[in-house]
Amino acid sequence: MNREDLANLIFPNITKTIEDYEKEYPERNLPDGAMVTRFAPSPTGFMHIGHMLAAVVDYCLSKKKNGVFYLRNEDTDQSREVEGAVEYIRSVLAHYNLNPDEYEYRDLNEIKGSYGPYIQSERKEIYQAFIKHLILEGKAYPCFLTQEEMDSIRESQARDKRRIGIYGRYAKYRDLPVEEAIKKIQNGEKYTIRLKSSGDFNRKFKFNDLANGEMEFPENDIDIPIMKSSNGLPTYHFAHLVDDHLMRTTHVVRGQEWISSIPVHYELFKTFNFKMPKYIHIPLILKKDGDHVRKISKRLDPEAKMSFYEEMGYPKYAVIEAIMTIANSNYEAWRENHPDVSFTEFEFSPKKMSASGALFDLDKLNNISKNYLSHLTKEEIYNEVLAWSEKYDLEFFNILKKYPDYSKQIYNIEREQKKPRKDYTYYSEIKSKTWYMYDEYFQNIEYNFLEYDLNDVRLILNTYIEKYYNELDTQEEWFNRIKEMCDNLGYASNMKDYKEHPLNYKGSIVDVTNIIRIALTTLSNTPNLYDIMKILGKDRVIKRMQSI
Ligand code: GLU
Repeated sequence: MNREDLANLIFPNITKTIEDYEKEYPERNLPDGAMVTRFAPSPTGFMHIGHMLAAVVDYCLSKKKNGVFYLRNEDTDQSREVEGAVEYIRSVLAHYNLNPDEYEYRDLNEIKGSYGPYIQSERKEIYQAFIKHLILEGKAYPCFLTQEEMDSIRESQARDKRRIGIYGRYAKYRDLPVEEAIKKIQNGEKYTIRLKSSGDFNRKFKFNDLANGEMEFPENDIDIPIMKSSNGLPTYHFAHLVDDHLMRTTHVVRGQEWISSIPVHYELFKTFNFKMPKYIHIPLILKKDGDHVRKISKRLDPEAKMSFYEEMGYPKYAVIEAIMTIANSNYEAWRENHPDVSFTEFEFSPKKMSASGALFDLDKLNNISKNYLSHLTKEEIYNEVLAWSEKYDLEFFNILKKYPDYSKQIYNIEREQKKPRKDYTYYSEIKSKTWYMYDEYFQNIEYNFLEYDLNDVRLILNTYIEKYYNELDTQEEWFNRIKEMCDNLGYASNMKDYKEHPLNYKGSIVDVTNIIRIALTTLSNTPNLYDIMKILGKDRVIKRMQSI
C-alpha cells in the first residue's frame, strides 16, 4: 500500500487536481499595477472598527487602478456562525458604498465574479484537492492524537517552558507507515490532517510587510492542522493559501493578530511553490482612556462596533473620513487641499500606516461630522434624518414624513450663511434639538422660567402678543419692536445703558428675549429666535405664549 491508497481512502471523491483548478481560475487579466483585494470576514454577527479599516483600505487600493475588490465569507468555523451575520456585513458595506465587485449572496441567490464560490463552506472540494495533493507528495499526514493527548502535550510544554505545538518528537504520527495509517482509518479512528513541516525553527527568513516594513521570523516547524476532523473543512491558514492563491489576490489586508502566523503562511506558499500575495497588516486601533492609551475593546467601547455609528446616525462621509485619517498620516493634509473629491482619489500608502497602533478619536469624528452636516442643504439633511429615523425612531419618522417643508425650514435656520451653524453631530441628536418645533412633542410642558417672576413673565408675553407681535415683520422690524416694548415696560433695550445703570431697570432686552424663548421652546439656548418664531407661525406662537 502506498500514499495513493491513503489519499484515496481519505478523499475518495476528489478527482480534480491542482492543475485543473489552476486552469479554472487563471491569472486575472488586469491593467498594470491593478490590485486585487478582498474583505474576508468571519460571520460572527458584528463588525469591528478594525474590520472597517481593513475594508476601507481594501476598497481604496482596488479602486486606484481598476482592480478588483471581492468579498469572501470565511465560514469554516461553523460553530461560531451567527444567523444574519453575512447579511449584516453586506448591509454595512452597502451603507458606506464599499460594494464589492465580486461576491456571493446565498440568500439572494446572487453570485458575481468568476473566481467563486466566495463562501468557504462551498469550497470544500477545492481545499480537499489541495490537501490530497499534499498527502500524495508525503507533505501532509493523518494525525490520530486525541484531544486528551494534545492537552497533555500542551500542559507539559507549558510546564517545561517549551514552545507549544505539535513538532519534533511531539509529532507522533508524522512518520507512521502508510499501512498503519490506513488501518487506523479503516478502524474508524478519528484524525485531523497535519502539514508535515519541513521548516527549521533555528533558521530565519525575511519578510516584507507593506505597512510594517521588513521583519525577520524563524521558520515554521510546527505540523499545523490543515483540515479539521469535525467537518472536513480547512483551517484558516490552509483556506488562506488556497483562496488567496486561486482568487488571485494581490494584496492581503488583515489584522495585526495574523502577523504571528506569517511563518506558517510562508511555509504553505513555499510548499506549493505559489507566489505569496503582498501583506498589509493593519495596526491595532487604540483609544485614549483618561491619560493613557489602550486597545479599543468591543466589550468596553461602544464605538468599537460599526453598529454604533449607524445607531447614532453618523453620516457615512464622516465615518469614512475618520477611518481614513487613522489609516494614513497624511490624509488630513490631503483632504484640506482636495475638499470635494472622493476619498478613493487619495494615494493610499501602506507605508504611512502607523505600525504601533492607530489612535481613534471620537472627538475628531464628531468634529468632522458637525462640519459636514453644517454644509449639507436643508433637503439633504431632511432626507438623511428621514432615512435614519425610519430605521431607528419610527415615531419621529412619521412626524418628519408629515411635515417635510416645515422640517426643512427648521434645518435651514442659520444654514445658508457664510459660517453655517454647527448644530448637529449625528442624526439621532436632531430630534432632541428640534422637538419643541412640533406640537406632537410640545405637550404637557412644565416650564422653568429660571429666576424670572411669573407675573413679569406673563406681563411681557401678554403685552408682546397684544401690542408688538406681527408675524410679517422682517428681522429688523421684529427686533425694533422688541426694543420698543422693553423701553415701555422698564427693561433696558440697550445693553450698554443697562450695564452702566442696572438699578434703573427691571432687567434688559436679554431677559425679555430669554423669556420669549423659554415660552416658545422651554429652552434658554436655541438657534435664532426670530427664525424660530417665523417657522412656528402665528397660531403656535400665540397659543404657547398664552398657555403660561
Ligand atoms: N476571517 C478572518 C477574520 O475575520 C480574516 C482574516 C483575513 O482577512 O485573512 O479575522
